[in-house]
Amino acid sequence: MILRYLLSIRHHSLQSHYLALVNVFLLHDLFIFVIVIGGFSIAVFIVRRLFNKKLYKTTSETIPARWITILQQQVPFYAMLSSVEQDHFNQRVMEFLLNHKITEADTKITIEDKLYVAASAIIPIFKFPHWRYSNLDEIIIYPGSFNHQFDTRGKGRNILGMVGNGYMEGKMILSQKALRLGFQNTTDKKNTAIHEFIHLIDKMDGVIDGIPRLLIDRPYIIPWLDMIKQKVEKIYLNESDINPYGGSSQIEFFAVACEYFFERPRLLEKKHPELYNMLENMFAHDLADRRPGLKPTSIGRNASCPCQSGLKYKHCCLA
Ligand SMILES: [Zn+2]
Ligand SMILES: [Zn+2]
Repeated sequence: MILRYLLSIRHHSLQSHYLALVNVFLLHDLFIFVIVIGGFSIAVFIVRRLFNKKLYKTTSETIPARWITILQQQVPFYAMLSSVEQDHFNQRVMEFLLNHKITEADTKITIEDKLYVAASAIIPIFKFPHWRYSNLDEIIIYPGSFNHQFDTRGKGRNILGMVGNGYMEGKMILSQKALRLGFQNTTDKKNTAIHEFIHLIDKMDGVIDGIPRLLIDRPYIIPWLDMIKQKVEKIYLNESDINPYGGSSQIEFFAVACEYFFERPRLLEKKHPELYNMLENMFAHDLADRRPGLKPTSIGRNASCPCQSGLKYKHCCLA
């Protein structure tokens, strides 16, 4: 009897001991599980950060002399920059070409074409040195105009450039003829490639709506929309020298006004001083006067930087 009792105790204690052990093992496993999952997430986070950083390639190579000649002779914006600014522009052109594929479709592209594309990308955001076109992978060059089916030969071709959506996300299409004309004719206030990059800049806040939220602080949005309304009315009354295509929507108005701003800043300042000021503030660039050290902007110093670095503007692109 005693033996039995002892045995049962023994048995009992063995069992609870066993249960305790199981508990310890479970806790131990759970602990390891948490450590492994936690460690794994941290590793993924680090790798992704490194990968993202690596994703944007930089270069320390110097730009080929021939490219400088082309930029100097064919890109008026470049020609008016100081030599320090030109060095900076060169660097950004090189990096743009390193990070974005330019593909030819049914045509042959030259280094001039590539430089026109890169210049059109850099010109609008020149004052934001950390800006990246994270929403763009590839620029496809068609020989001429195309239609909505991307047909380059059929009838009804009236598109010179477009920024892709849906399955075309991350792609831009440009007509080679229009791309070249944008730089060869420097007085018509038109530049198709700059126009398309403006749409991309507009798109970077998530929606193409003619309000580039990265470049314009909230209090300026209503005055901006009011101004567009006034200017579009003038277009309809045939009392405007702004490309009438800008009358089709506030999206197109913004793009067309920017073409004018970057190609004929002095004329825009003379004819549309308020519009000029608005754009000067958005792009932080006094193109008409080029007064050194003057950086008017509608972006608050403490607002997050337009380049989306996550830093304050005053600590990032403004610095
Ligand atoms: Zn457009
Ligand atoms: Zn920045």
